[in-house]
This record gives sequence, structure tokens and C-alpha cells, in this order.
Amino acid sequence: MIKEIKLPYPLDALEPYYSKETLLLHYDKLYKGYVANTNKTQAKLEEARKTGNFENIKCLEKNLSFFGSGIILHELFFLNMGPAMPTSPNNSLMEQIIKDFGSYDVFKKQFAEAAIAVEASGWTLLVWESRFDKLEILQCEKHQNLTLWGCIPLLVLDMWEHSYYLQYKTDRKEYVSEFFYILNWNEVNKRWDKI
Ligand code: MN
Repeated sequence: MIKEIKLPYPLDALEPYYSKETLLLHYDKLYKGYVANTNKTQAKLEEARKTGNFENIKCLEKNLSFFGSGIILHELFFLNMGPAMPTSPNNSLMEQIIKDFGSYDVFKKQFAEAAIAVEASGWTLLVWESRFDKLEILQCEKHQNLTLWGCIPLLVLDMWEHSYYLQYKTDRKEYVSEFFYILNWNEVNKRWDKI
């Protein structure tokens, strides 16, 4: 069971920049709904594993992404706000921002432009991409699109056609079942041990 976080500030603490009414609805109704629905979805997945009935797997995975990412992104958002008082990136983060964006002002400009340009419902994020050794700014539209933002990938299977079509044609089932013969758990274990 996933438990809700408590806000580390009172509901009116962000006034006048973020109204008490908005925060109440956002935290109390929307965020708590995401938590309840993630728990419900996880219970249904548990049930599917028990019965071996994966008929609704697409729907359940989508719900897991939608409600689960809703939890993670809202918690990041709520916690990276606070009562108006001057704060700034620490020395090492500022150094990285300057290295990757040129200056704090350019970072701020790119972040704001990316946020304004998000199509319909979505988010803007400053993220660390360890493979690139670089900070990046991302737009996230439709956070239900089959990811749990904030997760760390452990095991990956490429289901793009280029990965199997030449050999397996349309037989995805066969491709997936053969994958388990060449799956290297040693590497997955290494990734796991870093967590
Ligand atoms: Mn929201």
C-alpha cells in the first residue's frame, strides 16, 4: 500500500502565488485520488498474478502509469514548492546548470519556454540523465503514456518491429519467449545492486 505524503507547509503557505483553494483541490482531491487508484490498480495486478488471468493487462498497465506517475510527479511538484523565500541551487547544482545551459538565466528561459509550450495537460521537468552525464529539460505530455516517472529501469526488452521483424516476422510471442534464453540476469543484478 502506498501512503500519501503530508504537505510540509500549511495549505495557505503559498499564497498569494498559489491559492489555498487551488492547493486544497490539487492535494486533497486529485493527488489523494491518484494514491487511492494506484493502490486499487496494484491490488488488481496482484489478483491477476494470482489467478493467471491477464486479460486486462493493457488497461491495468496504463492505469498503473497514469495513477502512479500522478503520485510521483505531484509529490515532486508539491515538495519543490514552498513558502516564498529566496532559495537557489547549491554550488554543485549551479555549476552543472551553468555547464549544461550556459547560465542560470538561460536555464530559466528554456524551462519557462518548454513549460509554456507543453501541449494541453502536462509537465515540465529538469532531469538528470546519467547516460549523457547532463541535465536536461523535458516536457511530459500525458503522463499516463506508459511510464512511471521517477522509476529506474532494470530490465529492458525492445518491442519495436526492427528488433524482431526480420527474424520473427509477426510472431511477437515467440520473440518474447526466446528472449528469456538470452536474458543476462548478471547485468540486471548489477543495476539492482546500485539501488
Ligand atoms: Mn496536478
